[in-house]
Amino acid sequence: MRYLTTLATLASVIAGPAVLLAQGTAPAPAQAPKQADTGKADAAKAGVKDPKKASSKAKAAKPPPPTPAKELFGAAKTPAPMAARAIGFYAKGCLAGAAALPIDGPAWQAMRLSRNRNWGHPDLIALIEKLAAEAKAHDGWPGLLVGDLSQPRGGPMLTGHASHQVGLDADIWLTPMPDRRLTEKEREELSATSMLAPDRVSVNPEVWTEAHIRLLKRVASYKQVERVLVHPAIKKAICTNAAAKEQDRAWLNKIRPIWGHYYHFHVRIACPKGSTNCEAQPPVGNEDGCGAELDRWLALIKNPPKPGPPGPEKAPITLNQLPVDCRAVLAGAAAPAQPPGKQAKPAGKKATVTK
Ligand SMILES: [Zn+2]
Repeated sequence: MRYLTTLATLASVIAGPAVLLAQGTAPAPAQAPKQADTGKADAAKAGVKDPKKASSKAKAAKPPPPTPAKELFGAAKTPAPMAARAIGFYAKGCLAGAAALPIDGPAWQAMRLSRNRNWGHPDLIALIEKLAAEAKAHDGWPGLLVGDLSQPRGGPMLTGHASHQVGLDADIWLTPMPDRRLTEKEREELSATSMLAPDRVSVNPEVWTEAHIRLLKRVASYKQVERVLVHPAIKKAICTNAAAKEQDRAWLNKIRPIWGHYYHFHVRIACPKGSTNCEAQPPVGNEDGCGAELDRWLALIKNPPKPGPPGPEKAPITLNQLPVDCRAVLAGAAAPAQPPGKQAKPAGKKATVTK
């Protein structure tokens, strides 16, 4: 975890703070083993009476630390029944009136259903549905396997992702959808395919195809899409492809290099109209990002920085640190409970309304 943080910090130096907020869902590294609370254990072993016991009452009077917001938002099983609104920033906010991506569509299937993270702002849901249909019709892409969007009320998550908090981020697998409906078990257990060659600075021609480039170009060309995050080797593959030699190159800079992101790409859309408390990111500009910046990234991939010594644990975000409207989102009356798998349909219908 610390290693990732160090890498992300380094990445932010190179590509601006935005990349810090864009962690993806590629298979997570194994958790570091939990450290024993050695102080207590030693005292217990020695059978020593705690000399500080007298002061422990005073200690107990202190208010307990606030519950991390990830526990509060992680426990919310249904969306807040309010008008749809992305509140706050991609990595510090929440989501009112979320819609669910239906778990099956004409050109997509949602994965890892047990996580209950197929929720997003209705604009994001509509965009994924449009991408799936258009990529299937025009790009030779058989369908999308859709990974994490947001929790029903957005907010910080118990596992993975610094961003994905306001319903405007989506992870989509780079593995094409198989030509059949996956079972629930397969959606939990199926592994995504890495696109990297063994050298890690280029893509593997056995799995990487022109259709991947067409798909990524399509998503980056949508006006609402502000960033598409991919591994530097994938950015390189796109930059060197013939499609990148076109006149219109503005879409290329929306394709941003970042650590990870070789099993999936991450789509981030702009703050939707009406989300007045949504905090925008700076635009990426009109460069193509295929020059010196990409070279720096590829050099970093070849020689990744060594992890530094572990620093102090970062305190988790609390509800107080989120926009004040997130309290109302959290308190919003719960929608009637529905069996898992079925919840997606009604909200999904709402999301397909054309704009
Ligand atoms: Zn992501």
